[in-house]
Amino acid sequence: MSFWQPSLPYNAFLCRYNEIGTKGRNRVRFEEQLADGLQRSLAPIGPLRVIFEHGRIILQPKDGREPLDAAGLALLRQRVPGIAGVSSISPGFLVKPTLAAIEEVIENSFPAVCEAFLAQDPPPVPSYAMRARRSDKRFPMDCQQVETHFARTLLPRYPQLHLDLKNANFVVEVEIRKLRAFVSYERIDGPGGLPAGSSGRVLALLSGGIDSPVACFQMMRRGCMVDYITFHSEPYTPPAYITKLCGIARKLNDYQRRGRLVTVNLLPAQLAIRDHCRSRHRTVLYRRFMLRIASIVARAFNAEALVTGDNIGQVASQTLSNMAVINAATDMMVLRPLLTFEKLETTDIAQRIGTFALSIEDVPDSCTVFAPDDPATATELDRIREDEQNIDIDALLAECLQQTFIVNPRSFSQHPFNESENN
Ligand code: ATP
Ligand code: MG
Repeated sequence: MSFWQPSLPYNAFLCRYNEIGTKGRNRVRFEEQLADGLQRSLAPIGPLRVIFEHGRIILQPKDGREPLDAAGLALLRQRVPGIAGVSSISPGFLVKPTLAAIEEVIENSFPAVCEAFLAQDPPPVPSYAMRARRSDKRFPMDCQQVETHFARTLLPRYPQLHLDLKNANFVVEVEIRKLRAFVSYERIDGPGGLPAGSSGRVLALLSGGIDSPVACFQMMRRGCMVDYITFHSEPYTPPAYITKLCGIARKLNDYQRRGRLVTVNLLPAQLAIRDHCRSRHRTVLYRRFMLRIASIVARAFNAEALVTGDNIGQVASQTLSNMAVINAATDMMVLRPLLTFEKLETTDIAQRIGTFALSIEDVPDSCTVFAPDDPATATELDRIREDEQNIDIDALLAECLQQTFIVNPRSFSQHPFNESENN
């Protein structure tokens, strides 16, 4: 990220993407989904015109509202790291594909960018390079000739800069296409991956912790649409738990089209488990219930998999043996994108996507209600099933489902879930 970049009167931005360029016949659909994601994430900038160029998407403010103002640029720099499918975006100047037009825009913008570059504290190594790309072979100069031309005309006037083609700190990029050329000085990195909505729908078990929101984001990066389900234990958990979860869901929805939040009161099942099952097994039994309910909701939503923030570790519910026993409660696929993450990697992502501050707010969730002092770290399915003989699973599922709602995380309005609910 280049914090020193000035706000110039840019008239467009150019989006680069990796994987979706390789998707053969599906490419057009992927590009449209990416353009859709870009327009949604960048909507506060105002309506944007989309230009599809081979391997690139260019966006331009509609209605003659150009150039991009400083607030638009700030929003771009803030949002791009979260737009699934984007490898990088450059704000810049869209001009005619002629040397004269490219020269004119560089003449007008280079001094301000160079000045801001050199004014950094501490001073940077003042190494300069131009990277030119030319897809229109009819352009009278090849890339190297363009680069040499500008090095010859610019460098004598800026003796502080020296040419360093490999490790330049200050890079001018020029893309020359058949119908247009694009000049830029800055690349804002995106998360890569696939555009939102290109890989199907999943239902994520979202808790008030740090991990599960990151698990949701990882799935979005791979192009999944994510709905959320959370379990509370009212009145043992406070209403603030739902408010907190709405906040997390709202933040996650910055990265996709509206995901729904399903809230379930797990208390009936928890009370029965507390009263009729071995206390060391509670955590695993609660989790098996969560998966059963989540699977019912997922089927109603046409979701193809469940997602959790599990990570192989010492926590009772997350040992390999317990995960296997929990998993056996459903025949739906359960995806665990954080399985092998270090905690630091997870918190870094949580910070970057803006969920960390929301997650660390201390509100009890249903896991903390009636949690055993000595949770078993290695349970056996047969023993767990013995415990489950003591409770009426179907009746408890029905009771929990009666206290299941679909909440709009923005307006907090809610309606009861029913199994014929769908998209
Ligand atoms: P997190 O930070 O996501 O809560 P964690 O490391 O605290 O994860 P656990 O509390 O053991 O781990 O939960 C493991 C996973 O189970 C969570 O990531 C989440 O997907 C799911 N989960 C746990 N509690 C709840 C809950 N109350 N509602 C919904 N999902 C839950
Ligand atoms: Mg947790």
